[in-house]
Amino acid sequence: MFPNHRPRRLRNHPQIRRMVRETVLNTNDLIYPLFAVPGKGIAEEVSSMAGVYQLSVDKIVEEAKDVYHLGIPAIILFGIPEDKDLEATGAWHDCGIVQKAAAAVKQAVPELIVIADTCLCEYTSHGHCGYLQVDDLTGRVLNDPTLELLKKTAISQAKAGVDIIAPSGMMDGFVGAIRTALDAAGYQDIPIMSYAAKYASSYYGPFRDAADSSPQFGDRRTYQMDSANAREATPGNRT
Ligand SMILES: [Zn+2]
Repeated sequence: MFPNHRPRRLRNHPQIRRMVRETVLNTNDLIYPLFAVPGKGIAEEVSSMAGVYQLSVDKIVEEAKDVYHLGIPAIILFGIPEDKDLEATGAWHDCGIVQKAAAAVKQAVPELIVIADTCLCEYTSHGHCGYLQVDDLTGRVLNDPTLELLKKTAISQAKAGVDIIAPSGMMDGFVGAIRTALDAAGYQDIPIMSYAAKYASSYYGPFRDAADSSPQFGDRRTYQMDSANAREATPGNRT
């Protein structure tokens, strides 16, 4: 206790501060997000995020080469498909935009880690992160049927050469379901990097512009977490 304990001793010199600093951010910690669109030679700036572009696969490959040479270890791919439907076909089809982009990047820059966002909101006609019944305009996503689509999506992404699966839709049981499906399909070595604590928030606005994934009706509060609940986000407190 004070006066024996004087934590400022460790703050007096810049080199000592350097030595005891707990958190250091360098290029090893970075993941570069890329938004893939169909077509060729396309670079469409996202209006709400200066310097962020929707890119066609050829442009994604160019960008991935730059990213790799800058020492950034990984990219994460989001896809904007040509067509959207109720089953999110573009997410899990082997010719989906993320599958094409992943295969092209892995061929051009095999050492760059490719992560795939594994969600359905970019691919559903209504913009929600899962499956819902045609006549249900409340945006109440059906959890378990959505897991089936996420399993198909993850397997298809792994097949395309994706190194890490990143599910983001906040469905109950989604990590376990995807793990079981990947293992059964022979992808035991593919890690899952889940956005396991994701809050319903308007901070996602610019991202939704980039990924063209705003819900057409309702909101995501029945599946993303309530931002008032910090304890719920902590491992061990989840139910
Ligand atoms: Zn989503």
